[in-house]
Amino acid sequence: MSEQVVAWISAGMPSFVAAYCMRNIIGKTVYIHLSDQHPDSLRFIHDCDEVLGLETEIIRNDQYQSVNDVIRKTRFINSPYGARCTTELKIKVREKWERKNLKDNTHYIWGMLPHEKHRAERLKKSIPYANHIFPLIDKDINADKCCEVVASLGVRPPAMYELGYNNNNCIGCVKGGMWYWNEIRQDFPVVFQERARLEREIGRSCIKGVFLDELEEGRGRQPKIKRGGTR
Ligand code: SF4
Repeated sequence: MSEQVVAWISAGMPSFVAAYCMRNIIGKTVYIHLSDQHPDSLRFIHDCDEVLGLETEIIRNDQYQSVNDVIRKTRFINSPYGARCTTELKIKVREKWERKNLKDNTHYIWGMLPHEKHRAERLKKSIPYANHIFPLIDKDINADKCCEVVASLGVRPPAMYELGYNNNNCIGCVKGGMWYWNEIRQDFPVVFQERARLEREIGRSCIKGVFLDELEEGRGRQPKIKRGGTR
């Protein structure tokens, strides 16, 4: 029976640390790149490769240019059941990869943190055809510990963490709240303005009940530091 161990790297620190924890059994690492990610993400992936001694396979969707392209074409942003961009730019890309690469016995390694057990459970249900390993949950390695591991390996964190964000999600993640979007307004004003215009174009907003062009400066509370992987 054919077997493989694949770590899904997200360009966040946790997924790299999860892969590092399992470095003795990993056969390959795969990263789904989005044009909306900070360009430093690819530098981080390269640095992770050096540590792991692997060459990460970088895959992309071939239907949409960007998160804004998904929003414009589908006229949908997100709902309690998930974001359309996640489905189009990540889940479908992974499923396409699986159609070519899945083996009889496939093990996936993921970077969910100890406080993300609910995400891990959801993921197990949505991908029943693979075995799932969550090293950070199993070993109780939280976000701060992940930072320490990355630093101890001499790897510079992705730029978004250095700017103070809790993850390396797309710049202008549709799942961000008021504090997050006020930060994006300051750090990436073009991204903020384009999304604000797009929200009006389709009549839907990223933040429930508040369009970005009416978001008051200073609104929102900085989340407690619980850095997660890219969603
Ligand atoms: S990180 Fe945010 S914006 Fe990017 S695909 Fe995921 S939900 Fe969408």
